[in-house]
Amino acid sequence: MSNTGHPATSWYAATATPFGPLPALDGEVTTDVCVVGAGYTGLGAALELASRGVSVVVLEAAQVGSGASGRNGGQVHMGQRNDQAWLEKAVGRDDAMALWKMSLDARSHLSAVIAEHAIACDFTPGMIHARHKPGGEGEDLDHIAFMAARYGYHELEPIEEDALSEELGTGVYHGGVRDNGGGHLHPLNLAHGLARAALSKGAVVHERSRAREWRREGGRIVVETAAGRVICDQLILTGDGYLDELAGGQARARVMPINNFVLATEPLGERAETIIRSNAAVADSRFVVNYFRKSPDGRLLFGGGENYRPGFPADLPGFVRRHMLKVYPDLADVKVTHAWGGTLGITVHRSPYVRELAPGVRTAAGYSGQGVMLAPWFGKLLADAALGDTGGVELLSRLPTPPFPGGRLLRWPLTVAGLSWYALRDRL
Ligand SMILES: Cc1cc2nc3c(=O)[nH]c(=O)nc-3n(C[C@H](O)[C@H](O)[C@H](O)COP(=O)(O)OP(=O)(O)OC[C@H]3O[C@@H](n4cnc5c(N)ncnc54)[C@H](O)[C@@H]3O)c2cc1C
Repeated sequence: MSNTGHPATSWYAATATPFGPLPALDGEVTTDVCVVGAGYTGLGAALELASRGVSVVVLEAAQVGSGASGRNGGQVHMGQRNDQAWLEKAVGRDDAMALWKMSLDARSHLSAVIAEHAIACDFTPGMIHARHKPGGEGEDLDHIAFMAARYGYHELEPIEEDALSEELGTGVYHGGVRDNGGGHLHPLNLAHGLARAALSKGAVVHERSRAREWRREGGRIVVETAAGRVICDQLILTGDGYLDELAGGQARARVMPINNFVLATEPLGERAETIIRSNAAVADSRFVVNYFRKSPDGRLLFGGGENYRPGFPADLPGFVRRHMLKVYPDLADVKVTHAWGGTLGITVHRSPYVRELAPGVRTAAGYSGQGVMLAPWFGKLLADAALGDTGGVELLSRLPTPPFPGGRLLRWPLTVAGLSWYALRDRL
């Protein structure tokens, strides 16, 4: 695993509510459930378990929220990662309907947890999907009509090209769709808030406590760290892009880590008023998505660019700035004050990988860049399954998540070739 711990150059780390440090595990503890990973998935699981009076110990290799959960674009996307038409083809209409309902539950859960635990994460409603190529209005209108008629979802509205230019303060897009169900938030504050909520309900969270291995011993599960061990009945393995050997070969063959990057500009002052006037989050239709939004103090937070190898670009601010200037050439004189990267897990079809890996051992990973809304809920579903209600995990397990071609050794070169081709296509 690389790039762990909060990046020193992250605007989120610089502005987060103070949190921790929490003590590392030292010695042997016994608990009902052990959770590995303190991102949204692990914390969502811990909060659910502790709220139901179940003893739970979370082991985090670095710090709470220092994986993708504290580094992401903060964009709250509605639905599953795959759209409903794709899901209907992949898993049939009944499961697709159930997956849509699951995503609505995830959205309600996120709002409820933020409200109940007074999580100060600046949730702001509104999400815009912008088309980067001409054409496509017809498909968007069909999608809006399909979602209204089949799923009763009425939060989508078309935006014409001129109106979108006025809204965003850039003429590079060709219209799009506003989703009033989506939004954006401060991702690290969400992670800290989830951790505080779980701790308040009695969960135990250890930072700097990497789980090195797990095994069965006398009918129970033993999880080892460098300085201690957790003895438990059920194990929840999270990790997304930071998922390591612990989850085993099946998971590692299906979830591949890639890196993605974000910058923050200096506060834009009055210029901020002409950029994203409605203060929505924006994501464009490129394969390597550009996503952006404003911070409460009027900065542009812009995510763009990926790489497919361990390690980040040497000039990270310059790397993301090039993407930003293609969308906002007028910001050439603006200083980039922060830039950071994070690692996320992707799968072949971009469906999350959710499985019972062995009796009592479950995982959810491979959100493919869409975990802010889903991951806390998937954590809850893993907790439900640990307590015997396996319906949600079984439904998600039916999503197709084939191994990457080429096996463990060849998957990087083959997938990088594939991903690079798609990235090139964006530029055509
Ligand atoms: C740059 C970037 C931008 C993104 N933008 C968005 C966005 O705008 N909207 C959206 O919905 N999603 C976005 N995502 C994806 C989203 O952040 C993830 O889907 C989500 O955070 C996954 O949460 P998680 O808890 O599963 O994993 P993570 O938050 O990555 O947490 C995994 C944790 O597991 C720990 N861990 C791993 N192995 C071990 C071990 N052996 N022992 C102990 N601990 C371990 C790691 O240290 C880490 O803290 C983005 C991701 C990145 C990187």
